[in-house]
Amino acid sequence: MQKCENCNMPFSWGKITKSIGWLYKPINCGTKHKITFLSRCRVVALGTLPFFVFTYFLTPFNTYNVNIGIALLIAIFIILIAPYVVKYRRE
Ligand SMILES: [Zn+2]
Repeated sequence: MQKCENCNMPFSWGKITKSIGWLYKPINCGTKHKITFLSRCRVVALGTLPFFVFTYFLTPFNTYNVNIGIALLIAIFIILIAPYVVKYRRE
């Protein structure tokens, strides 16, 4: 995962998740780091693609609870993966 070029502080999974959760809030360790535009696109793609595939190509199960469960699993998957696909740059 990425580190700060100034103070070598690693951008931990938690810090990045929090940053994304607060609508791409910059990560600040003394130096402000902003998420890159490409990274935002990746997060959006990561979030949209599985839902799209699930809804349109895999016939959703008839049980409402199962659908919610799968949607939740996808959401958890996105949250787990997102910090690994984003990049930050110094402001
Ligand atoms: Zn730093």
